[in-house]
Amino acid sequence: MLISWMSHDAYCSFISQGITSLSSSDLIRLRGSFSDSLDKLTSLDLDPVRDLLLTHYSNTGRPAQHQPQILRSFLLMGDLKETSIKNWVHKLHSDPKKLKLKKGEKLPPKSTGSVKKMVHFLFKHPLKKCSERLLQEIFVLAAIVPSVNLGLIPADSLTAAGDGTCLPVPSSHYGIKDCKCYEEDGIWGCKCDRRYSDPDARWGWDSSKEQWFYGHSIYMLSCYNRDFHVDMPLYFRFVGANRHDSISGVVALAEYRELCPNLPIRNIVLDSAHDNFPTYHLCREWDITPFIDLNPTNNGNRTYPGAVTVNEKKSSCLHGWTSHGQLGTL
Ligand SMILES: [Zn+2]
Repeated sequence: MLISWMSHDAYCSFISQGITSLSSSDLIRLRGSFSDSLDKLTSLDLDPVRDLLLTHYSNTGRPAQHQPQILRSFLLMGDLKETSIKNWVHKLHSDPKKLKLKKGEKLPPKSTGSVKKMVHFLFKHPLKKCSERLLQEIFVLAAIVPSVNLGLIPADSLTAAGDGTCLPVPSSHYGIKDCKCYEEDGIWGCKCDRRYSDPDARWGWDSSKEQWFYGHSIYMLSCYNRDFHVDMPLYFRFVGANRHDSISGVVALAEYRELCPNLPIRNIVLDSAHDNFPTYHLCREWDITPFIDLNPTNNGNRTYPGAVTVNEKKSSCLHGWTSHGQLGTL
């Protein structure tokens, strides 16, 4: 397996040397506009990712080059809020400082039957690897493990929160015509092939805005760091906008268990979209205490006592069924 790798130390010294050769005006610009990006890229040690990437390259032929640089480029691209690779390439070549930084050189709720089937599936089949899994594994090695080592993510009694968020896309679900039937022949409604910019986009329901949207959903698990008052991301997953959070939630828990077997989630906080018995069942099997907001539409299905004592110290009405068959309160 051949791969050409610039180590993190070599990258940092490359940046240090590059900074010393900058003019005073460029230095001011770097420390102004790009200081956050510079801190992020020089703090992110990608060396632990090297062995993982090695297994994905051929052991014959020319060595793969610039792999950490490609990852840094994507990180810088996202940090500077650029989403077009074409525009990004143009910007990089028109701005040598950026080049140096990167180079180193809702649907109506589904029935719990769907969740039950997914939970049943998860008990019997480990989730297969997909291309997105590699990015998740890179994220674990480059971000989660160092965060645990630095004490930013607690290694014991991890309490995580899970939720999905909408990601609308501007693509048309009708597709775009590439032909000139109308312009040249005046033909409306021709049957020519259409171009779909985002063929994986789907219609979904945004429950917070109470409107439909076209695009994707991102399901995330995170934990809260009390010392720095920040949410620490644990897991990301792109899913179709038409997938309900209740399904994404159990898939997320299953995939997280495989990705981070040494950092188990002990408590999970979820919203009312996850209030179904298959999820409670899964949590009990995996020794996770769920704290799930009650779904008001589930009143008729409540088997366990719904009343909880609320006093001035417990202002929330969240409660969950613990692994020991007791109600947990938050
Ligand atoms: Zn046509």
